[in-house]
Amino acid sequence: MAEVKIACPKCDWEPQPSDHWGCTCGHSWHTFDTGGRCPKCGKIWEDTQCLGAWAGGCAQWSPHLEWYRNLDEWLKDEIEKIRTKELTPVI
Ligand SMILES: [Zn+2]
Ligand SMILES: [Zn+2]
Repeated sequence: MAEVKIACPKCDWEPQPSDHWGCTCGHSWHTFDTGGRCPKCGKIWEDTQCLGAWAGGCAQWSPHLEWYRNLDEWLKDEIEKIRTKELTPVI
């Protein structure tokens, strides 16, 4: 099975585990852990922004699913499950 790689569709920048994205609710988290869904307020980000030049990225927005390379159907389902599951409160 091909390994899934996460990279910006526009510039090929690859997110590091230490990278974080900010939500409009003020929460920041690693967006690829949750399929683009804010774990605090539950907002689903259909598009994900590449981090800016300071992180080596292009700062452009792309559909979240386009970030996954070699994405299999089963993984699409997994991401969909993450996005639609009940929220557990963030401590
Ligand atoms: Zn939020
Ligand atoms: Zn980029």
